[in-house]
Amino acid sequence: MVKFITARNFLAIYQATGLEMSKFTTKKNKIRGFIANLPRDFNQPSDAVEQKLLAEYGAMFVAKGGAVLPNVIVFKDEAEVLSWQSGVATSKENISGFNLELQIPAMTALKDAIAEAKQNDLTITPRGIDSAKRDYSETVELWASRVNPGLAHWVEQGKLSEREAARIRTLSPFEQVSEIFKLESDGMYFSKDLSKSIIYSVAPSGTSQHISMLALDVSEHDNAKVRDILAKHGWFQTVESDLPHFTFLGVSENQLSNLGLKKRNNGGRIFWIPNI
Ligand SMILES: [Zn+2]
Repeated sequence: MVKFITARNFLAIYQATGLEMSKFTTKKNKIRGFIANLPRDFNQPSDAVEQKLLAEYGAMFVAKGGAVLPNVIVFKDEAEVLSWQSGVATSKENISGFNLELQIPAMTALKDAIAEAKQNDLTITPRGIDSAKRDYSETVELWASRVNPGLAHWVEQGKLSEREAARIRTLSPFEQVSEIFKLESDGMYFSKDLSKSIIYSVAPSGTSQHISMLALDVSEHDNAKVRDILAKHGWFQTVESDLPHFTFLGVSENQLSNLGLKKRNNGGRIFWIPNI
């Protein structure tokens, strides 16, 4: 408990300092940290789980270019998601046979990127029907699609008791997050291939960037030219190891470090993640 409060205080101080410093820097030469770039009404992480989620998925929260951002790290349930999504202007388009919905600036930038790709004899296509907007129940299903097989596997391996697995199954998806992170800290991973953390495989329910309608899973993600074109139009990779996943940040690449993001090279890919 003390640890959480300390962390929260640290963030509050960090943010206050960042805001204070910004008064003394010129607009042209503005260098502010990640925390200072978060939305004004943002609810800072309340515990270690939220801190981890912000560090791993948080790049989206400093998006510009007209993106509307949630002020919470985790939507707790369907009602919260519906309420937030209904207040955001979106655009629906049929792209390569899939009906997709994104925030308007994200869709506009995507269409521009698709047009530029076409000029270069390339395509940018969604991976499937759930490649853009997702609702809460879809994030619950995806989460369960990793958690349930993972629990069965670790029981089978003798690392986890059936009783403990059964207890975790009865928890809400929200409550499961900290439990799964605990098991992962003991080497029981829950990604699809069980070799890494679940967060690089699926987002915990209520945390997906797809809920915010600022994310797209792209079929041609392994083509560096496609990634360059998407980046030119404000779409970047921000979740390390989630290879098909792109996030609308709405700025050019040379502005990303000013948003408090750091460049991480992983397997020849560039990921922009919160510098915290
Ligand atoms: Zn994705």
